Amino acid sequence: MQQTFYDFSAFELLKDKKPLLVCDDAFDSFGIEFPCEVTRFSAFTSNPDYEDIKSGVKVLRKNKCDFIVAIGGGSSIDTAKSIKYYNHINLPLMAVPTTSGTGSEATHFAVIYRNGKKQSIADKRLLPEYVILQADTLKTLPLYQKKCTMLDALCQAIESWWSKKATQESILYSQKAIYLILSNMESYLHNDNDGNTKMLVAANLAGKAINITTTTAPHAMSYKLTSLYGLPHGHAVAICLPKVWRYMENFDYIAKALGTEHYEDAVSLFEEMLLELEILPPQNINEDDLDILTNSVNRQRLSNNPVRLNKSTIKKLYKEILEIADGEEN
Ligand SMILES: [Zn+2]
Repeated sequence: MQQTFYDFSAFELLKDKKPLLVCDDAFDSFGIEFPCEVTRFSAFTSNPDYEDIKSGVKVLRKNKCDFIVAIGGGSSIDTAKSIKYYNHINLPLMAVPTTSGTGSEATHFAVIYRNGKKQSIADKRLLPEYVILQADTLKTLPLYQKKCTMLDALCQAIESWWSKKATQESILYSQKAIYLILSNMESYLHNDNDGNTKMLVAANLAGKAINITTTTAPHAMSYKLTSLYGLPHGHAVAICLPKVWRYMENFDYIAKALGTEHYEDAVSLFEEMLLELEILPPQNINEDDLDILTNSVNRQRLSNNPVRLNKSTIKKLYKEILEIADGEEN
């Protein structure tokens, strides 16, 4: 079971503990104080590598840490989860997300890289025992990053809803997340406290939804866009989702949650929102890119898509995503 707190009072739990603090440099801007001494571990990249995790486990053991605290975005939380996983002795984990997007604090998965390859670990021990959702941590996040993480949460909620593995419980999380995102987007992008709090809760709900269902085609197609063009995860997923949805010609009930009648309207609304947020396709596409992208789609996530997408469909979708006109790819 996971316990959620909305302020830093939960740090009282750390009294008399020796926590390993997993965080990046942004941590210093939060002005957070602990009731105990902490061992800090920041030697990991935004795509945490297995070697980083191994050195994190070493630091943890050397300092005889008995608790793990992750403060940061998805990378910090995934690093902390992986350290817990590879440490073998199961230590309690507290996660404090400082972006409202990945929902990593609400899932039992972690993504790390091994020899440059993306690897997903899934284990029930990876679900943090304690979560703190505190809006002050979003205050210093750059606007573009706020947009990307919000869009990730929105896509996760939508994909989870149409996923083959959707359950009554996961659908409820998706509905609530979509409602909170749409009704608080403006205030969140203005960096108001209330909007920030609601968006953290929304991202957490979207995380709970994918914790049950995992994601689908837009996520499966996004990973290579990220590695090929350096697009942030949320940006890459968001430009895929409307094209995939239009192809599937379904899910009016999700369109209704977005405040429209039919799926076509919801797709248009989504595309207009991306234009307004200036979340656009990458430029300078290489002619070989279409094939590289098509051949690298994450099969596991793809198999969870409600509509089967074959190779030629995926290639066609990438052409739309990258806005390549017909005949231009050769
Ligand atoms: Zn995502």
